[in-house]
Amino acid sequence: MCFGRQEFLHKSIQRMKGMSNWAQRRRIQRMKRIVMIAAFVLLMLPLVFHIVLILQVRRLEDRIKSLEDRLVSGQALVSETATRETAAPSDSSGEKDSTTTRSDPEGEAKEEKGEVREVYLTFDDGPGIYTDQILDILAAYEVKATFFVTGENADRMEDTYRRIVEEGHSLGLHTYSHKYQEIYRSLPDFQADLNRLREYLREVTGQEVSISRFPGGSSVDISRSRLQELINWLNEEGIVYYDWNVSGGDADASDVSSTEIYENCMEGIRKQERPMILLHDTSTKRSTVEALPFIIEGILELGNTELLPIQEGTVPIQHVTSTIN
Ligand SMILES: [Zn+2]
Repeated sequence: MCFGRQEFLHKSIQRMKGMSNWAQRRRIQRMKRIVMIAAFVLLMLPLVFHIVLILQVRRLEDRIKSLEDRLVSGQALVSETATRETAAPSDSSGEKDSTTTRSDPEGEAKEEKGEVREVYLTFDDGPGIYTDQILDILAAYEVKATFFVTGENADRMEDTYRRIVEEGHSLGLHTYSHKYQEIYRSLPDFQADLNRLREYLREVTGQEVSISRFPGGSSVDISRSRLQELINWLNEEGIVYYDWNVSGGDADASDVSSTEIYENCMEGIRKQERPMILLHDTSTKRSTVEALPFIIEGILELGNTELLPIQEGTVPIQHVTSTIN
């Protein structure tokens, strides 16, 4: 009996030892797992940091590149301004576009006499994504311009149409669709399109717009008889059309630089008695926005000049003259 009890005790002790070993093994395994996870995290952290840093460096490199581009462009314009200021008037080179930059000796004579020269900045085909930036620049220089708008962004840019009017600039009609094949197909097509834009602008801005610009100008490539029909109808409606005599050339190609636009404008302005400058405020014309402060400063530095919006009564510049004026 006594021997049996001892044996029982011995077995119990052995069982307890076994259980203790098993618990210890589990603890060790758990510790191993924790150490492995910690090691994995410690290894991954620098890798993640590395990737984040590489991405940031790339972003900064892009930013530096874009700032360098802007700096180079700005320096080119500044040096051009300086050159223009010191250049003799006879330095003005030949005409780039015979239909838009005819030489005007009277303009130079007027400048010499000290009379104030009217200069008109006009923006076609907007409003677009850059129109608000253009309005900001005009506001910063406290000058007014004219926007010959289309209806292309009518549903998205109501505020911009309104802002143009509220800030004292002029609105002009440039047809709703700006699609040559449609608007120049017939007089009724032209009327329907232009009336649609007039109604839209009346609704959105409360203004009855009475100035216009033909897409392509009045020298657009359509028959003379068709053009005359359209002009006659505009005259009946009391709408005056305005062309331009200076072209910024920003629609000549997709990649015209701000320096070229500035040069085109200043070259044309020097030749005209009443420069009416054609620019564009569509979504592809970022360089026009970049050139604008330099163009305005260039004009103001000429002295005896006043930047004005086209208004009722402003004497028009017309490539093809209206017969009933
Ligand atoms: Zn146009």
